[in-house]
Amino acid sequence: MKRICYFVFLAFMTANVWAEEVKIASPDGKVNVTVTDQGGIPTYMITYDGRVMLKPSRLGLKASIGDFTAGITIKGQKQSRIDQNYEMTRIKTSQVHYVATEAVIAMQNAQGWPLTVTFRVSNHDVAFRYTLHRGPNDTPRCALVYSETSAFNFPQHTTTFICPQSKPMDGWERTKPSYEEEYKADAAMDLPSQYGQGYTFPCLFHVGNDGWVLVSETGTGSNYVGCHLSDYHKDLGYTIAFPNQDEMNGMGSPYAGIPLPGSTPWRTITMGTTLKPIVETTIPYDLVEPLYQPTHKYKPGRYTWSWLIWQDESCNYDDQVQFVDLAATMGYEYCLVDALWNQRIGREGIEKLSRYACSKGVQLMLWYNSNGMWNDAPQSPVGCMNTSWAREREMKWMEENRIAGIKVDFFGGDKQEMMKLYEDILVDANRHGLQVIFHGCTLPRGWERMYPNYVASEAMLASENVYFTEHHARQEGFELCTYPFTRNAVGSADWGGVLMNTHMSRDNKSRHPRYTSNVFEMASALIMQSSINAVVLCPNNLSELQPFELDFLRELPTTWDETRFLDGYPTRYVALARRHGSKWYVGALNGTQEPISMTLDLSMFANQTMTCLTDQPLKKSKKAQENSLQLPTPVQKQLKVPQDGKVQITIQPMGGIIIR
Ligand code: CA
Repeated sequence: MKRICYFVFLAFMTANVWAEEVKIASPDGKVNVTVTDQGGIPTYMITYDGRVMLKPSRLGLKASIGDFTAGITIKGQKQSRIDQNYEMTRIKTSQVHYVATEAVIAMQNAQGWPLTVTFRVSNHDVAFRYTLHRGPNDTPRCALVYSETSAFNFPQHTTTFICPQSKPMDGWERTKPSYEEEYKADAAMDLPSQYGQGYTFPCLFHVGNDGWVLVSETGTGSNYVGCHLSDYHKDLGYTIAFPNQDEMNGMGSPYAGIPLPGSTPWRTITMGTTLKPIVETTIPYDLVEPLYQPTHKYKPGRYTWSWLIWQDESCNYDDQVQFVDLAATMGYEYCLVDALWNQRIGREGIEKLSRYACSKGVQLMLWYNSNGMWNDAPQSPVGCMNTSWAREREMKWMEENRIAGIKVDFFGGDKQEMMKLYEDILVDANRHGLQVIFHGCTLPRGWERMYPNYVASEAMLASENVYFTEHHARQEGFELCTYPFTRNAVGSADWGGVLMNTHMSRDNKSRHPRYTSNVFEMASALIMQSSINAVVLCPNNLSELQPFELDFLRELPTTWDETRFLDGYPTRYVALARRHGSKWYVGALNGTQEPISMTLDLSMFANQTMTCLTDQPLKKSKKAQENSLQLPTPVQKQLKVPQDGKVQITIQPMGGIIIR
């Protein structure tokens, strides 16, 4: 539903003698945006509840049709109220009511060429985008955008929780950038980025005592390049950065091509005095529309996955039967067969395995290499996802053999050509009833709503790193206490965890241990959101875990009707409540080496006795604990929640809590 309540036209001005100023307020009046053309430089600034969240920050872009960064005059504006309801089945919430003030601001550059800047201001989010127009004679009808000057200029006392963009054609088999770098906690703004390439979205900023701001973008598919933030500039702040020319082995343009008239994707700024609006935001979905209808009823669920612990050696028929059986035992919907299946199991073997899985009520998902020729990732199958004819052949075969979904890996960068490949895979997969997970990839930008068969992406340091190195095993708490406020706040995340082996090996004794407790791992499935969620159980875990642990893992929902932030601080700890139907689940993680106590508002459980899974504290010195291979024992308790819902909890170091 769209309602236009009021609109205002400013008088046309003949010369830019006085700066024009446009003020836009959120429906509750707390967010205030001021846009000006002072000195010919288009800028905007944002206050929240009277506090400055963004200082005057530049707007504008450079395109083949002209320079829109200076010599700008505001020619007029029109404001209206947006009021929309929509439903989602695969994000943090199911019913969304989006209410915002929209301001459509007409600008003109020094050559008289028009530019429209559209702002949407809701109670905790500001979004804006540019619309480019044709010139005299109704031409040209297409344009290139070379760069954007859109800036995010934070007050001086701001600190950052941001993740560096990697260099192109770097890392393992030249597969970067793939959004798999490490966040820094509470870093200074002027700290140079680790690789000199700026920062990947989303970027979290702590504006001192005034609050928190999350900057990201949404609505990018085949229509534009994927952007990120530049390094900090003392006068400008951070600006929108385009892909590096060398991505995709240098193929393709780093510029964006758009038809005229045409719009850029939305830049989004989510803010609050606490982290609650950031964790709960739906802004990536509020600003986009479904691009096509689902051809099938796509089923959420859980999947087993041999590769994480048993690795490449497990890509054989007999091992996969064990993981199909494990899924069936747990009542899980899916089993993911990872790389090399075409060589080691073969297509006939997969057909047979799929028949076996279906007879047990489980469906297979298959891994693919996205290449192509944009990096050196060697794992097969290759050459099946990079052209439309190969995809059609492959996906038809999958549909005939009741394969439920694909995980496509090793993309290379954010050029428009690569963004188009993600979209083409999704569109073709929908025709064959396949759901899609991306790995080694870019951030999804509103994709759960744009593409109804899209599930989730990696685009973070996911569980494979816990397997690969002791360093990341020790960092698991830090990572999983960061993503709810960053990566997972703007898009479904295939963490690929719930690691129940105590050691990162098939024998569950060799290699490095896991440093998180069992309850931490189980609670991570409530904290990390993806409508199809991995549970990295191994067959041996069935006899190792206590019955109440397996009960929880069998019950585990993956879709949510509501999500509430309860408490947390990025990199240290997090507590969320999520509702599935009428049932609430509370999960909490401690990513530090110290116990953390907090009082949670569990009013959804008022006057009820709940089941609580928690860690038995270890009776050891801290030093011994840090170096110990011993994990705390999980215990199940009853928890009486008083009428006011206030409950004090303590989470053990690298531990967790589940209340349901
Ligand atoms: Ca990866």
